[in-house]
Amino acid sequence: MLSRARELPSRSIEFEIEKSQYRHSVPRNLAGHRTRQSDPYRRRYRHNPSEATAIPSHRVSLIGFLCPHNWTGHRKGRNRMKIGNAEVTRIEEYHGLGFPPQVFLPDWSDAAVEKHLHWMVPGHYSPDDGRLMGSIHSWLIRLPNLTVLVDTCSGNHKNRPDSPFFSMMNSRYIENLAAAGIDPDDVDIVFCTHLHIDHVGWNTRLVDGRWVPTFKNAKYIASRSEFERLVAEEAGLADNQHMIADTIQPIIGSDQWLLVDTPHHICDELYIEESPGHTLRHCHLTLMSGGGKAVFTGDIVHHPIQIHFPSWNSGACAAPDLAAPTRLKVLESLSETGTWLMPVHFAKPFCCRVGKPEDGGFVCVME
Ligand SMILES: [Zn+2]
Repeated sequence: MLSRARELPSRSIEFEIEKSQYRHSVPRNLAGHRTRQSDPYRRRYRHNPSEATAIPSHRVSLIGFLCPHNWTGHRKGRNRMKIGNAEVTRIEEYHGLGFPPQVFLPDWSDAAVEKHLHWMVPGHYSPDDGRLMGSIHSWLIRLPNLTVLVDTCSGNHKNRPDSPFFSMMNSRYIENLAAAGIDPDDVDIVFCTHLHIDHVGWNTRLVDGRWVPTFKNAKYIASRSEFERLVAEEAGLADNQHMIADTIQPIIGSDQWLLVDTPHHICDELYIEESPGHTLRHCHLTLMSGGGKAVFTGDIVHHPIQIHFPSWNSGACAAPDLAAPTRLKVLESLSETGTWLMPVHFAKPFCCRVGKPEDGGFVCVME
């Protein structure tokens, strides 16, 4: 199937857009020349009160949202949370400057965001740099009898010729995993919401010149439809050819690749559903445990401002006509149930809940 895919030169809109973004818009410091500010491993976070006041001033309907047991404090971000019987830990690959807002969110307007600057600057937007702030991280879910890793970032030492920012990374991801008390051998399930280079990278790592599964005892779950989409639509791109060769084929070769039809229950507490738009077969994962609920949303939402403007797609959304309705539907559901929204690219505090003001729309609640 993979060799057949290489014969298909068709390209998706998404990667055409991403390619042009990365080539023309990635700041030099993100493309390998890190500045002090953009380097998450050198940066010393200083608490800025404006980061902590993301709670909208107008009334929001929050149903039992503010449980103090559920978080470790916003100053350092919510890197570890208790949700029902699950412990959820963020594993960082990158946190810092992202793309220019006008490029990444084509509907962006300075006038529209002006009233949001009080909570966006500096934690989620750096006007001085003309860049959004963002993150690349995994979420690790520890249930009493199961350890699940959701999305595996970009990986180290991977050649991504179309995407300089993601190419030849050298992050401390494995060290961060260890700091969270996790040995890679402890992971039972790896689930990738979709098959993009920044969501599958740590599926493998380079050992003695060979790409081997990072999590040798895990089953790697992906949606069958999403895999077929990758093969049919995008395997002709250089990045995807590299990704399939260094990140997916080693998992298939070790018999750890498990394609599932959606909806799919991983266990009683975790289930996968399709959420098309960012990719045609993008999926999300819902955790329901002990009265707590969280949705691991992959790239349904990239930046918290999209909660306030849910029709704003990222320039990387392959099917904009589906992405916006999917975002709207998911936000509606989250707002009604007080569920945690666990995205992959939100900057500190990295996750939030969704409020629904009486005058309409949604608000990002980061208290
Ligand atoms: Zn992503």
